[in-house]
Amino acid sequence: MCCNNSLDEPVIHTDKAAAADLQSISGMKFFDPHIHMTSRTTDDYQAMYDAGIVALIEPSFWLGQPRTGTDTFRDYYNSLIGWERFRSSQFGIKHYCTIGLNSREANNEALAEQVMEILPLFIYKEGVVGIGEIGFDDQTLLEEKYYRLQLQLAKEAALPVQVHTPHRDKKKGTQRSMDIALEHGLDPYTVIIDHNNEETVKDVLDKGFWAAFTIYPFTKMGNERMVDIINQYGTERIMINSAADWGISDPLAVPKTAALMKQRGISDADILLVSYQNAITAFGQSGQIDEADFNAVKNPDQSEKFEGNSILRGGQQPRINASSIIIS
Ligand SMILES: [Zn+2]
Repeated sequence: MCCNNSLDEPVIHTDKAAAADLQSISGMKFFDPHIHMTSRTTDDYQAMYDAGIVALIEPSFWLGQPRTGTDTFRDYYNSLIGWERFRSSQFGIKHYCTIGLNSREANNEALAEQVMEILPLFIYKEGVVGIGEIGFDDQTLLEEKYYRLQLQLAKEAALPVQVHTPHRDKKKGTQRSMDIALEHGLDPYTVIIDHNNEETVKDVLDKGFWAAFTIYPFTKMGNERMVDIINQYGTERIMINSAADWGISDPLAVPKTAALMKQRGISDADILLVSYQNAITAFGQSGQIDEADFNAVKNPDQSEKFEGNSILRGGQQPRINASSIIIS
């Protein structure tokens, strides 16, 4: 006895099939705890809202090329708690962020020193749910220095930590990230270890940390592997994210993975845990997340302005005005 599928029947992924898949999770709500919206378009926001994403976390990160001064860090952090949050709200999605010095730019010591000085000006602001994303990239001594300093900062501020684990030598980097966090006396229940895979998950869960998984299209951690991980390890302290940014990535990775989980027989309750609730429990330890706020941004007035600026371009009608008989 074997399979229903015959091997000579290829599975064709058409747009129609993809739409039908997302249909299966319509009405469910999602939280993407790692996505860099600054690098994404208004179409992405609209598609995310339509797919059921009600809230997200935007970690501060590396912008693809090194910054040359503290002021660009300052402006970037300000945009995460200002303009980008506003832009997200105009598409009906509640926006949170984590603030930190990313691992790559920790290697510029002179600049890193200055950035450390301004971090306390941002981490206590409304909607900041943690220190992140911080950790190792090349696993250099300077990366370790600023990772440690920021763990101390998180401890003093009683904020969760969002840890970026390296893509090269991941197992060792993940291990080291956890050891150092424990050495600094952090409660592993307040630390979210990100970008896990099959090699790291067991250790992360055994040590009491949260295990986040980034669903990368075409490479590394595809969502079929994610379904297998859920089947093997369950849903406790596990969450999924898209980590979509300026590179090839998928801002709908969370709802698409939820749809695949449903198709593969994972219960709605378990899907809700890994694609919504667990992230809220983990980052909610900041005291900054109130689910009632998700509804408050649901029906945006797109003619609203932030410091005199709106998302509408000359002559555009707000989306909310759906009953207008004028089609323009
Ligand atoms: Zn990231």
